[in-house]
Amino acid sequence: MMKYETVIGLEVHAELNTQTKIYCGCQNHFGSEVNSNCCPICTGMPGTLPTLNEKVVEYAARMGYALGCTINPVCKMDRKNYFYPDLPKAYQISQYDIPLCEKGHLDIIVDEAGHTKHIGITRIHMEEDAGKLIHADSFAGSLVDFNRCGVPLIEIVSEPDLRSSAEAKAYLDAIRSILLYLDISDGKMQEGSIRCDVNVSVRPVGAAEFGTRCEMKNVNSFSAVVRAIDYEAARQVEVLEAGGTILQETRRWDDMAGKNFLLRSKEDAQDYRYFPEPDLGTIVVTEEQLAAWRASIPELPGAKLLRYMRDLGLPYFDAGLLSESVEKAAFFEAAAALGKCQPKSLSNWILGDVSRILNEQSCTLADTSLTPEKLAAMAALIEAGTISNTAGKTVLEEMIFSDKTPDQVVREKGLAQVSDASALEGIVAQVLGESEKVVADYRGGKTNALGFLVGQCMKLSKGQGNPAVMRELLLKALEE
Ligand SMILES: [Zn+2]
Repeated sequence: MMKYETVIGLEVHAELNTQTKIYCGCQNHFGSEVNSNCCPICTGMPGTLPTLNEKVVEYAARMGYALGCTINPVCKMDRKNYFYPDLPKAYQISQYDIPLCEKGHLDIIVDEAGHTKHIGITRIHMEEDAGKLIHADSFAGSLVDFNRCGVPLIEIVSEPDLRSSAEAKAYLDAIRSILLYLDISDGKMQEGSIRCDVNVSVRPVGAAEFGTRCEMKNVNSFSAVVRAIDYEAARQVEVLEAGGTILQETRRWDDMAGKNFLLRSKEDAQDYRYFPEPDLGTIVVTEEQLAAWRASIPELPGAKLLRYMRDLGLPYFDAGLLSESVEKAAFFEAAAALGKCQPKSLSNWILGDVSRILNEQSCTLADTSLTPEKLAAMAALIEAGTISNTAGKTVLEEMIFSDKTPDQVVREKGLAQVSDASALEGIVAQVLGESEKVVADYRGGKTNALGFLVGQCMKLSKGQGNPAVMRELLLKALEE
């Protein structure tokens, strides 16, 4: 069989989290009672006029800067005509030939060594969302909820630069975390805040031309995108191998069934009869506005991740989890900047016990009394051998919701580590005396039994014995 390469382009629709909708004053809010959050403008009643929400332009332009796009200081909205029951106007106000943002790129991280791949961004344009059809069992037919009409969207269109479902997933994860970093979308997949149109084609490895592509619209989770790509690529290869040809089609991905179905042969742009939206003026953005928006872009998660690996020596996994959260990343950086301990110790604590406590209490770092100074001081006490790692857990529990410093907790609880061998010999002797079978196992060659014995000594010393010293003492006793 010939070897094939998969070519993927993605169109990501992200709902923006502005206060109000894109062309009217209705609240931009998910979960209102059906048809309670709409007005004559967003439902397209004759005679009403839209007014563009300036925040939408700002949010879209900031995403453009984050993705290295050129921002067109003069652009316009266009009318895209199509009929669908959830679109009461029978057209969508979108952007056609002059989008707000063009020609950008996103460097996705493709492996744990931090290698990146350059993915072109064709354009980002602004448009409005449509309503939602509700398929109720109790009703023969469909109902429609217009609350989502006029919710602002940006559509981010990639070049066909992605070559596998794994790359597509990395791209989508990166887009989502940038949206969250910029705080321009809530990124909630389960509420449909990010949806994706997936274009897939295949071609023989080495071929210069692209194959004919098929599009799957509105795939609503990243894992579904992965499954949809893998399925569609395999389907196309099967058709080609059987001597068939791929037709340009729109197919519907059914994630439950794990397959897609022909929806219609693909419409071309001309089918939409685009024309400049006559109810809205030209959009002009000043130099000052553009400069301010550009200056507002923070260091983005991908760049942070690579910097943590390169400059702070963190492994990919740690760097990824920390950079994913604006709050945890800022906390980690502030603690690491104090230079009191290894960045990796801080990362272990933040991603381990601190995150566990935050989850258990359903709160964020800002809700606690933990400061970068306190955490770094605690990690330094452990690195200096003053307290054990186990005692560190107690210190954290005691100080995370109080004003106590690590030193204070260590004093109050008597947690200082005992490193004096003579003080620990009794503990080691007692553990060895009570663990005859484990000792026999160790002498029989099961060297990992040592870890168990160290653990028992730690327990008996109530976490205060220095594990390294006890390990030494155990080894000495076992070799006798
Ligand atoms: Zn409205």
